[in-house]
Amino acid sequence: MERILVSSCMAGRPVRYDGAAKPVAGGHFERWRKEGRLVPFCPEISGGLAVPRAPAEIVGGTGGDVLDGTARILTGTGTDVTDEFLRGARLALETARRTGARTALLKEGSPSCGSHRIYDGTFTGAKRPGTGVTTALLQRAGITVFSESELEAVQAHLTALERASHPEKAPHGTA
Ligand code: SF4
Repeated sequence: MERILVSSCMAGRPVRYDGAAKPVAGGHFERWRKEGRLVPFCPEISGGLAVPRAPAEIVGGTGGDVLDGTARILTGTGTDVTDEFLRGARLALETARRTGARTALLKEGSPSCGSHRIYDGTFTGAKRPGTGVTTALLQRAGITVFSESELEAVQAHLTALERASHPEKAPHGTA
């Protein structure tokens, strides 16, 4: 069975910087949970940051630039939390590899988990196209990353992976 590495906050855990969760409910997500596919993980907590914590943004680039050492991750008051974010990204990849997850479903907009948009580093609420640092590392390792607005695409991806691995056992919703 294909596992899905999922942002802990979307699995209902109150791990965001402000102590909130951002749960995804119903439909495919609930079924994946019941099937035991979900592997909840929060890179920022695993990287050593606390709840609550100061919000942080990537300054000078995107997640890939952080991996390449050409951008940093700072809080609004200038504290450099790049090392914690990088540690969390590496632990996310280790968790995906250990559990066999080839798919990730991560929270859009986050400097760790964003897959299409991230805050632009100006701390004004503005966003720019780009990925968070965990997403960038997972993608470089060949893991396909989706956001919470792409649940149908996740299901289609799981179906394709499971058909390729076990053509005789197509998962739910593939007839
Ligand atoms: Fe959610 Fe990812 Fe932020 Fe953790 S790092 S709170 S999992 S968006």
